[in-house]
Amino acid sequence: MAEQSTARSQSRRERRRSRTSTPFIVLDRSRCEACWSCVDACPRGALGKMQVIWHKHAVVADAERCTGCRRCLDVCAPGALSSADG
Ligand code: SF4
Ligand code: SF4
Repeated sequence: MAEQSTARSQSRRERRRSRTSTPFIVLDRSRCEACWSCVDACPRGALGKMQVIWHKHAVVADAERCTGCRRCLDVCAPGALSSADG
């Protein structure tokens, strides 16, 4: 039972991480101003929108689609996106 709950919380953590990063970029949701420029700029549809009450920010919709082209980094004025390699 304890193992099941540990596995569940691990998978929740992994899901959260996969919604905020790809192998190439990292999203800091707290700095996101929900302008959607990155979503529009991504040629691969890797980014998406979280739009519910109290939660409005970009998300990584499909990390595997990210090719690391960095277009999203170039258009994010508040600096909510950064390169995964620093
Ligand atoms: S690096 Fe390129 S492919 Fe990856 S999320 Fe940003 S714009 Fe999309
Ligand atoms: S460009 Fe930056 S501020 Fe705008 S939605 Fe994307 S992450 Fe948020």
